[in-house]
Amino acid sequence: MKSIVAIVGRPNVGKSTLFNRLIGQRLAIIEDEPGITRDRLYADCEWTGHHFTLVDTGGIQTGAEGQIDEAVTRQAQTAIAEADVVVFVCDVRQGVTNEDENVARILRRTRKPLILCVNKVENLHHEQDASEFYSLGMGDYVTVSSIHGMGTGDLLDQIVRLLPADPAEAEAPDPDLVRVAVVGRPNVGKSTLINTLAGEDRVIVSDVAGTTRDAIDVLLQQDGDRYLFIDTAGMRRRARVDEAVERYSVMRSLRAIERADVVLLLIDAAQPITDQDQKIATYVKEQGKACVVVANKWDLVAKTDKTMKEFTEKIRYEFRFMEWCETAFLSARTGSRLPKLLPVVKLAWLNHGRRVSTAQLNEVIRESVLLTPPPTDKGKRLKIYFATQPHTRPPGFVLFINDPELMHFSYRRYLENRVRETFDFSGTPLRWFLRKRESKFAALKPKEIGPREIRRSRQIKLERRAARKAGAGPGTAAHVRDE
Ligand code: GDP
Ligand code: GDP
Repeated sequence: MKSIVAIVGRPNVGKSTLFNRLIGQRLAIIEDEPGITRDRLYADCEWTGHHFTLVDTGGIQTGAEGQIDEAVTRQAQTAIAEADVVVFVCDVRQGVTNEDENVARILRRTRKPLILCVNKVENLHHEQDASEFYSLGMGDYVTVSSIHGMGTGDLLDQIVRLLPADPAEAEAPDPDLVRVAVVGRPNVGKSTLINTLAGEDRVIVSDVAGTTRDAIDVLLQQDGDRYLFIDTAGMRRRARVDEAVERYSVMRSLRAIERADVVLLLIDAAQPITDQDQKIATYVKEQGKACVVVANKWDLVAKTDKTMKEFTEKIRYEFRFMEWCETAFLSARTGSRLPKLLPVVKLAWLNHGRRVSTAQLNEVIRESVLLTPPPTDKGKRLKIYFATQPHTRPPGFVLFINDPELMHFSYRRYLENRVRETFDFSGTPLRWFLRKRESKFAALKPKEIGPREIRRSRQIKLERRAARKAGAGPGTAAHVRDE
């Protein structure tokens, strides 16, 4: 599990600039996919081989003067509770302010590793001025200029030095346990969902040790399957934290997502889908977790027989960077359609762990290449020699090809679509790895497409349709969707 590093500080000291600078240096952007939200609150970072999640607690919406203090204070408290390392950013040009002192006071009381980071240091004068920050009683500091990128390497070195030793997975791996995280914006109904689910007899409350002190995991059993709902603390209690705190306790959700196999992303069916929903989804995808988008408060939606279909399309559009997600529509409050939820979760979980044989996989890839040969680029054509699936959770495929440069996103997506048409991977992201291979194997050549290939292609479609019908029972996509 990755450690969390939080950036805190009052508005305008340069938190977002620093955040972008730090992730810009080390964020591996795997592919430029349309629809991925770029403006982030959190991102995975890597520095000298150490991985951590960096959280920008900035973007605080402050009202009147007096409220700034309060908001910053709360933000600092949340960061202390949830982060492994806290980076406290100040602005050398403003000098030490009252707010800085307040935050420092809170931070000093914790035993969490802290880094005082003095920003906007761009010349020798600033460097001298920075000594003023000793008065905060936090010891030594790092000076940086986020805009120019000066000092950020030293800052990253410090962060890495303070990261806890790789926290070993506290839970013994249990291959049959379905680990579920429930995430979503404030007020979408997370607590209600957990309470309703947990209100029934089959619940055993367990305190499996999580990393967060007061994490409470809830174990549910249904049809012989066991579902562990991760870190439901705060969700099960009804009246609690206000919205501002919830927003910054995003860190808590990040941890839950990391520990989960399947993430339930709750949205409010009576409200438009927002940026924040998409940001969470982006993270779920990047972490390689299965995802079910749950449209809650379905009772509030005026329905015709088309509503669910239209709504599904809307979800697929808004979350188009993860159009593979499963969907569920329910009312956590009335319990209506709730029984349909766990079968969908189970299906996504199964698909997340699905492994297909090398032979089957190569057949699909070969056929795909036959039907649509890879495009050429500057006279060179992509050749695919061999495919295999070495990873699960999420499923990961390796393609041995003549030149990774020749693989375009659109062709990779085409192959992924073909693989998804053949095998049930609904609800789970897939990962693709490209390996350069000299032509040792015969490439899967586009030959002429003859009657045999066309027959085969038809046959696959028929088989899939039949399998969906026959296999029914809870746990197949068809059963769950066409109800
Ligand atoms: P946040 O509210 O703490 O997230 O602060 P922002 O990152 O939005 O930055 C606030 C302002 O400070 C912006 O106008 C930035 O361009 C500016 N700023 C941030 N870092 C630096 C820096 O290293 N040097 C200078 N000169 N300006 C900076
Ligand atoms: P959380 O902040 O995501 O945990 O959301 P809560 O569970 O606290 O729910 C926020 C509000 O939405 C509460 O007033 C709930 O009663 C209400 N709510 C939750 N689920 C439903 C639902 O399915 N239908 C309706 N109408 N209201 C709901």
